[in-house]
Amino acid sequence: MAIERTLSIIKPDATRRNLTGKINAKFEEAGLRIVAQKRIHLTKDQAGKFYEVHKERPFYDELCSFMASEPVVAQVLEGERAIAKNREVMGATNPANAADGTIRKEFALSVGENSVHGSDAPETAAQEISFFFAGLEIVG
Ligand code: ADP
Ligand code: MG
Repeated sequence: MAIERTLSIIKPDATRRNLTGKINAKFEEAGLRIVAQKRIHLTKDQAGKFYEVHKERPFYDELCSFMASEPVVAQVLEGERAIAKNREVMGATNPANAADGTIRKEFALSVGENSVHGSDAPETAAQEISFFFAGLEIVG
């Protein structure tokens, strides 16, 4: 099984509630390694660029304002099947549908303020990692 890398973001609702460590414990327990990490406060324009794929969706403006409202922690997770595994540990987008033990089930406040982002495919993972990190900042 190939080792993959994926982009994870701990969203403002979670950094505000001091949940960074608890969330990262779940990734590490699942065998994912944090190989790059930075805490940043995105501008609304930067959040808009990151979520450009959703620009036609009705929640786009709300999503961009939320992502720029408080600091986030952007990180690269590495491991076997890291892209799918990260999404399994995160749980469903809407916490009402998330499985027991997942991050979103335990911590998310709503479908919008759902604590974590994770890339959904190899192409988006590569693109999203390079949005936040230079190659030299990723130390496996
Ligand atoms: P995921 O983050 O699980 O990949 P999507 O890519 O569909 O989910 O959506 C991106 C983000 O947009 C979600 O994580 C959430 O923060 C927000 N979002 C999605 N659907 C809604 C909605 N119906 N209302 C408000 N915000 C939403
Ligand atoms: Mg998505």
